[in-house]
Amino acid sequence: MSDCLFCKIVKGEIPSKKVYEDDQCLAFYDIDPQAPVHFLVIPKTHIASCGAITADNSAIAAHCFEVIAKVTKELGVTDFRVVSNCGEQAGQSVPHLHFHVLAGRDMTWPPG
Ligand code: AMP
Ligand code: ZN
Repeated sequence: MSDCLFCKIVKGEIPSKKVYEDDQCLAFYDIDPQAPVHFLVIPKTHIASCGAITADNSAIAAHCFEVIAKVTKELGVTDFRVVSNCGEQAGQSVPHLHFHVLAGRDMTWPPG
């Protein structure tokens, strides 16, 4: 989508600090980190949110989780939290599917 912030990051039109990239997805550090380690994993194709995952695109969501496991291992992170906000009330500010990966501090539950 031409006016989507994360599609622009995928195309290189907006810079990002990449952690990992392959043909299907991209991982980059969050610009406003909420933990010592905070990166985002996104599909390269535009999917609006977790709520838009279907049988046709779920393989890429599964791939994102493979990438999360791989990148956390590479960073030496064993304890981490994965968050995907879906919809404004849940805190989603960028309408392109993304998984936050947060680590390096104690986490509380329930989340705010
Ligand atoms: P959410 O609010 O769950 O939709 O998450 C969107 C995330 O994108 C927020 O944590 C923002 O800090 C992050 N973000 C926004 N713009 C950028 C950017 N240009 N580079 C990296 N992260 C960004
Ligand atoms: Zn997009």
